[in-house]
Amino acid sequence: MVQHLAAQGITDKNVLHAMQRIPRHLFVANSLWDQAYADHPLPIEQNQTISQPYIVALMTQALQLQKSDRVLEIGTGSGYQTAILAELAGQVYTIERFPQLSQKAQRLLREAGYTNIRYRVGDGSLGWPEEAPFDKIIVTAAAPEVPSSLLAQLADPGRMVIPVGGRQVQTLLLIRRENQELFKEELCACSFLPLVGKEGWPEEESIESRS
Ligand code: SAM
Repeated sequence: MVQHLAAQGITDKNVLHAMQRIPRHLFVANSLWDQAYADHPLPIEQNQTISQPYIVALMTQALQLQKSDRVLEIGTGSGYQTAILAELAGQVYTIERFPQLSQKAQRLLREAGYTNIRYRVGDGSLGWPEEAPFDKIIVTAAAPEVPSSLLAQLADPGRMVIPVGGRQVQTLLLIRRENQELFKEELCACSFLPLVGKEGWPEEESIESRS
């Protein structure tokens, strides 16, 4: 998988090493183990997905994580991306709207020995204001617009990666805050499940998607 990611243009050695170390198959059902290292999303509980490895690598690389970073992740899901963040950053704060997914991820990540992760169940579109500001923010569900609460909780300097756009297809954005200015860069087209919440999509309009 990691050789494939390098061939696809992922150059950050720390990201590649972290993805080599973390056993992705542990984050999916046993029945999917034969597909766990293929470069595509896989279903997890609550009709959600573990994202495609290439997108995970691209988003992580874009964050330029440092060992001192405090990182906010929205969409814990299986916990796979959380593990990568915990390997590369100082402290990870991760929010998931489904309690069942959060609990399962917490169990897996504790068993794996991570002690630098804090978990919250709730609406991540509002961020985690009590712990702000965050050096890095990663949103692994698609928003119609960049949530203003998350922007307000991004440090200066700070980096956020987030898929923004329509319900089927979005653009993966890298947002940088530097010297009180915001810079926006488009990384690629993508297709994520919806961010459902006050600053995301309304519950009843959420749709099936891919990543
Ligand atoms: N990063 C995850 C992984 O490695 O398995 C995959 C995330 S999955 C594509 C998107 C996740 O975002 C789902 O688990 C979904 O329940 C969660 N989600 C959607 N809206 C949310 C919200 N407002 N707050 C927190 N989590 C949310």
